Amino acid sequence: MKPHQRNRFDLQGRTAVVTGAGRGLGQAIAVGLAEAGANLILVTNRSSAEETKAKAEALGAKARIVQTDVADRSKLTDIIDASVETFGGLDILVNNAGIIRRAPAVEHAYSDWQEVLDVNLNSVFVLCQLAGELMIEQGRGKIINIASMLSYQGGINVPGYTASKHAVAGLTKALANEWASKGVQVNAIAPGYMSTDNTEALRNDPVRSRQILERIPAGRWGSDEDLIGPAIFLASSASDYMNGHVLCVDGGWMNR
Ligand code: NAP
Repeated sequence: MKPHQRNRFDLQGRTAVVTGAGRGLGQAIAVGLAEAGANLILVTNRSSAEETKAKAEALGAKARIVQTDVADRSKLTDIIDASVETFGGLDILVNNAGIIRRAPAVEHAYSDWQEVLDVNLNSVFVLCQLAGELMIEQGRGKIINIASMLSYQGGINVPGYTASKHAVAGLTKALANEWASKGVQVNAIAPGYMSTDNTEALRNDPVRSRQILERIPAGRWGSDEDLIGPAIFLASSASDYMNGHVLCVDGGWMNR
C-alpha cells in the first residue's frame, strides 16, 4: 500500500488544459480544477475567457488564455506549447469544446456534419496525441474527454453529433488500452442533460423538454456544477486505476 495521502483529490502543482473554457461546462470544469489547486491553460474560440480566468485566479491559481479554433488542426500544437512554455509541462487535458447541429438526417448539410466532426472528434484525437506524447514521456498524465448520452444513444436530428460522441467514447477506450501501462489515464465524462447554451433549443421545445425531464430520475436538468466533482476525481490520483471509463453524470438517465 502507498503511504497515506492527506488528499487524493489535490491538484496542487498540476497544470490543466481545458478547451471551451470560456463558458458552459468547460468554464465550470476549469474553475473546479483551479479550486483543487491546478494552474490552467484556458482555450477559447469566440468567447472571452476573462471571467473564467478571474474566477480561477481568485482561487489562487495561475491561468493563461489561448484563443484558438480547435477545428484548425494546424493551431493545436500551440495549445500544448503554451502549457509547456507557461507552466513547464502538462498534467491534465480536458477535451470539452463541442458543438451540435440539429437537422433531420436527409436535410443535414454536409458542412454541418464536417464541422461537428472537426470540433468534437478530430480536435480530440490530435490534442490527445500531442498531450499523450508528453505524458508518456513523463510517465504520468490524465486525459478527460467529454462524451455524452449520445455516446450510447442515437438522439433525434443530430446524426453528426451522435457519431462524434460515439467516436469520442471509442477513442477514449482505444487510447486507454495503449497508455494505461505508461501511467496515463484516459477516461471520459458523459454528461446527461445539462442547462447550457448547447441544450437551449431542447429546453425551449415544450414537448422535448417535458419528455426529457420525465426520464431523469433526479427530477431536474443537470447544472455545470454537477461536473466539478467528477472532473476533479478523474484529474487526480484518486482515479489512478481507472482507464477507458465513460463516467455518466446524468441524474440517473442511463439507468431508466
Ligand atoms: P456550450 O455552452 O455550447 O459551449 C461550447 C463550448 O465549446 C464553448 O466554450 C465554445 O467556445 C467551445 N467551442 C465550440 N467550438 C469551438 C471551436 N471551434 N474551437 C474552440 N472551442 C470551441 O456547450 P456545453 O454544454 O458547455 O458543452 C461542453 C461539452 O459538453 C461539449 O463537448 C458538449 O458536447 C458536451 N455535452 C454537453 C451536454 C449538455 O447537456 N449541455 C450534454 C452532453 C455533452 P466559444 O464560446 O469560444 O465558441
